[in-house]
Amino acid sequence: MNNVAGKVAIVSGGARGIGGESARQLAAHGAAVIVADILLDEGETNAETIRQAGGEAQFIKLDVTAAASWENAVAKAVSLFGGVDILVNNAGIYIPKPIMESSEEDFARLIAVNLEGVFLGTKICAPEMMRRAETAKVGSAIVNISSAAGLVGSRNAPIYSMTKGGVRLFTKSTALEFSRKGIRCNSVHPGLIDTPMGGMLLNSRGSEGSNDVRAAIANSHPIGRIGEDTDIAAAVVFLASDDAAFITGAELAVDGGVTAI
Ligand code: NDP
Repeated sequence: MNNVAGKVAIVSGGARGIGGESARQLAAHGAAVIVADILLDEGETNAETIRQAGGEAQFIKLDVTAAASWENAVAKAVSLFGGVDILVNNAGIYIPKPIMESSEEDFARLIAVNLEGVFLGTKICAPEMMRRAETAKVGSAIVNISSAAGLVGSRNAPIYSMTKGGVRLFTKSTALEFSRKGIRCNSVHPGLIDTPMGGMLLNSRGSEGSNDVRAAIANSHPIGRIGEDTDIAAAVVFLASDDAAFITGAELAVDGGVTAI
């Protein structure tokens, strides 16, 4: 299971949170990983953690909103590890404001990171991923991190939800465009996950430190708890792996059942 051995992965937002754990799990299953993030210290630390555990990893600075930054990431992946087989478009930002309080700057920032970042990563990594797929047993894979808020609307973060809904359909279009070119593309839709961003969501509903708020949100997930970065990373590794060879254009809710209600 989870066959990614010998593959090369770029994980955007790979310094910490869901991307950080996805990078660690991909490496633990045998992939060489480019940990790509704007957070320099945390990114270096995560790559070092992977190496200490016996995996292959290199940190590179990546701003997903800049095409030149992506071109640099692909060039590094090729020169260090020989190519790119897996792209995890994970980097994202969260701005929990209702429509009437959202500014044009908020809107532009969310679109730039959550949507343009995914478009640029996909477009700029695709040629190298197609080249690798020509000689691979199964081919290459893109995993886009959307959200439960990309499946249903959000009271707290409507513009964020708009971007994540966009990621969901861009995933399907990417799958269609690349299905005969050796690249599969699927989306993962997390519920509330205990990461720094998850803490922002808890804060937006009340005090992050408040056990009452945590308990209420945990209870709102049918499974009865808040998610962990490991829950999402396991789904990322599966969809990136050759075990998911016939899965493309799919959306996988990893949300403790919140969107099943
Ligand atoms: P975190 O904020 O913990 O980690 C995201 C990482 O991406 C950070 O290191 C962040 O740096 C980085 N990043 C932000 N902007 C850029 C950029 N322009 N270029 C490169 N890296 C960038 O978030 P999570 O791990 O929680 O979230 C990961 C993904 O999962 C996101 O797409 C998010 O929307 C999604 N998600 C998360 C949920 C949750 O509850 N945590 C729920 C549903 C979806 P910095 O801190 O400097 O911004």
